Amino acid sequence: MKSFSKSFTQQESLPEASIDAATSIMRSGRLHRYNTLPNELSETDYLEIEFAKYMDVPYCLACSSGGYALHIAMRAAGINKGDKVLCNAFTLAPVPGAIHNSGAIPILVDVDSDYKIDFEDLELKAKVSGARFFMLSHMRGHIADMDRIVKLCKQYDLFLIEDCAHTMGASWQGKKSGTFGDIACFSAQTYKHINSGEGGFLISPHDDIMARAIVYSGSYMLFDRHQAAPPKEAFNDIRYETPNYSGRMDNLRAAILRPQLEALDEQCQRWNTRYRLLEKTLNQSVHISLPKRSVDEEFVASSIQFSLVGFSSKQIKQCVKDCSERGVVIKWFGASEPEGYTSRYDSWRYIDQMPALPKTERILSNLVDMRIPLTFSEQDCTLIAEIIVDVVEACSTKE
Ligand SMILES: *Cc1c(COP(=O)(O)O)cnc(C)c1O
Repeated sequence: MKSFSKSFTQQESLPEASIDAATSIMRSGRLHRYNTLPNELSETDYLEIEFAKYMDVPYCLACSSGGYALHIAMRAAGINKGDKVLCNAFTLAPVPGAIHNSGAIPILVDVDSDYKIDFEDLELKAKVSGARFFMLSHMRGHIADMDRIVKLCKQYDLFLIEDCAHTMGASWQGKKSGTFGDIACFSAQTYKHINSGEGGFLISPHDDIMARAIVYSGSYMLFDRHQAAPPKEAFNDIRYETPNYSGRMDNLRAAILRPQLEALDEQCQRWNTRYRLLEKTLNQSVHISLPKRSVDEEFVASSIQFSLVGFSSKQIKQCVKDCSERGVVIKWFGASEPEGYTSRYDSWRYIDQMPALPKTERILSNLVDMRIPLTFSEQDCTLIAEIIVDVVEACSTKE
């Protein structure tokens, strides 16, 4: 019987250039982003300039985590206590958490069978909820039709915040994910596309929003030191009106991220090669259904999702267990109890007005998720998919 032995949570080591940069910044002792010599730009400044350039946007703020970026995005957008924020029901806990942190109320929207936001439910809830804000989570890198999203936001006057934790490096019709809305947030946490342990970015094309985000992040009165930032005048009133919610990035993290950003596009290709190999073998089973991927969607597959067609909860639990015994770690989004990083929307019980989401419940009930760390070779991916197919075929005959 085939089995697999590598770890599903082992990332690659950082590039030598990152390690060298880390040593050098530690030798300097100047780890705080505003601790610079006269006329010196900090590693954090350079990282912001480079990320803005990579995204082809004017401004960027580096901060302490993706979840923190989402939180100050809410604040900078002017969200007040009790405001309603539309948000996919299929996402990870930091997203509704950031909405809650700003005092707002998440209005959860259904997912469709390709794991993207469901347009019918989105339009209905945009109409009836009175929400003026929309947090679109490109969950697990599945990018919805962005033309339709932008049109709908215009039509209903929705302020769009993109959660790009899983789409750093991805595009829709050649335009970078994160450049469609009013604000976009990214994560540099270990399991995302560049790795500084913790870290995040916020971008926005709006001067006032960017100025607020920078002051929120804990810039004291040093905001004019930011390079990928709006002109000083943008801070005129904002610096008095905006509290300091301290959550800056430091130079050590920035230093190790810069070489990784340079290699990002290449890494994205490596993820996608692995995804296509997994997809090809998984497609051999009639019990496994993979989402259709639009030609417009240049995704980054740092993970893979598929549905076990017609399987009962009992069969899926058996599959997860049997895969695990053969070294393949898959997660089930339909589990009633939250586990590890995976939780279903109905376990976020702090949300007061939890809507009924029968469609999402049905889709999540068969949805399986697997990480694709780049420490897996292409052969590893084929082997893993063969094991999954074996297990699924065996489980399909048992009730
Ligand atoms: C990881 C993640 C975040 C938050 O990022 P952190 O850097 O871990 O705070 C937000 N949204 C999604 C979908 C994520 O997976």
